Amino acid sequence: AQKGRTWATRPNVLVCGTPGTGKTEMSAAIARKVKMQHLNVGDLAARLDAYDGWDEDRQCHILNEDRVLDEMEILVSKGGCVVDYHACDFFPERWFDLVLVLRATTEVLFDRLTARNYAHAKIQENLQCEIMQVLLDEARDNYPEPVVVEVQNNTRLDFDSTIDRVVRWHDQWLRDHAP
Ligand code: ADP
Ligand code: MN
Repeated sequence: AQKGRTWATRPNVLVCGTPGTGKTEMSAAIARKVKMQHLNVGDLAARLDAYDGWDEDRQCHILNEDRVLDEMEILVSKGGCVVDYHACDFFPERWFDLVLVLRATTEVLFDRLTARNYAHAKIQENLQCEIMQVLLDEARDNYPEPVVVEVQNNTRLDFDSTIDRVVRWHDQWLRDHAP
């Protein structure tokens, strides 16, 4: 068993990436396919009102990370969770067996964020974030090398191939951890 973990029956997956790369749709599909629980951290924070104020520059809430982590701990420690959040640096490393980093091209991301009616500055900020591969670097800085998997998520073909890959990974994980 991995140090600091109290579960062994189901793995946990983190789906991260720049807004618009497709995390929520991917997380929901993974959850459906391998019968995991989809935990959307943004929704959870909203439900709990777990904020430490408002960031004027970035026009977003400041997350009360401790409050969110406390709430997630019981669920995650049982295993079988797909956690959906853009960032990955404030979760305990031991929580995740797979950190999936979704990527998209500038053209694709621009279209998706425009369709969301994001403000111009917010679109530019997110495009920069994706071009600079901020979330990929964050994942590599915070999780062991084999845990981090980067995938392109521009097309439906990309999407389906990632789902297949996660299903195979999940089934192998169960075989490797069979009692
Ligand atoms: P995020 O949660 O990362 O912000 P979403 O899951 O909300 O992203 O997806 C953003 C938009 O892109 C949605 O309209 C979604 O249907 C679309 N989308 C997601 N993945 C793909 C894909 N592989 N191909 C085409 N469109 C996609
Ligand atoms: Mn989302």
